Amino acid sequence: MIDAERRAALEVIAGEVRGCTRCRLAETRTRAVPGEGDPATEVVFIGEAPGMNEDREGRPFVGRAGGLLVDLLGHIGWQRDEVFITNIVKCRPPGNRDPEPDEIAACAPYLERQLATLDPSVVVTLGRYSMGRFMPGVRISQAHGTTVHADSATGAADATVFAMYHPAAALRTPAIERESYEDVARIPAVLVDTRERRAANARTARRLTATEADPAATAATATPATATPAAEPAAQPVDQLSLF
Ligand code: SF4
Repeated sequence: MIDAERRAALEVIAGEVRGCTRCRLAETRTRAVPGEGDPATEVVFIGEAPGMNEDREGRPFVGRAGGLLVDLLGHIGWQRDEVFITNIVKCRPPGNRDPEPDEIAACAPYLERQLATLDPSVVVTLGRYSMGRFMPGVRISQAHGTTVHADSATGAADATVFAMYHPAAALRTPAIERESYEDVARIPAVLVDTRERRAANARTARRLTATEADPAATAATATPATATPAAEPAAQPVDQLSLF
């Protein structure tokens, strides 16, 4: 999918979210918050639900927690408009209460479609509710800073999931803030590893397609010389990578 198609598909989803009445949160929200960011990005950040400022502006992570998220991104040389930022629930729960399971379930198809459209390499979960969609049954105190391969049922076809605390928790607890800076510093390396895995998968898929299209030709060229993998370009240091 080219960038313009991705952008258009994301805008269709956002339009549906803004008019959605699938769960009770539609009755109390001011504005739904579909999410925003670069449609060509490789990294998606997923929080829990909009807060008071987000509900007012219709944009994700614009309050104090959003300020810390921007600082965390800046710690690794990234800017918020280079990634995509959204939540598992697109409307504010009254009084900033936790989202209910039926509200999360009602909203899930929007997130699945966003992930299917963006096809990110890395999904960063912010907080335990977001983590629970991708790493069910684990505790965030143990899982933060770790990765799993995304279940394709989440919408992310071939992504690495990286768990972090929610920035709001980091604002409340200095120890969590310190750990959040340590965790975010690992994301560039996770992205590089995932890029390499996806590139290897793509090469394998191309070889399989070529074999199916012309088995005789593929067999004829499968000499030791052609079977030797080409030398990979020297890896760039992570801190010199152009990440997007
Ligand atoms: S939270 Fe999700 S499912 Fe519920 S009304 Fe908002 S957009 Fe619809």
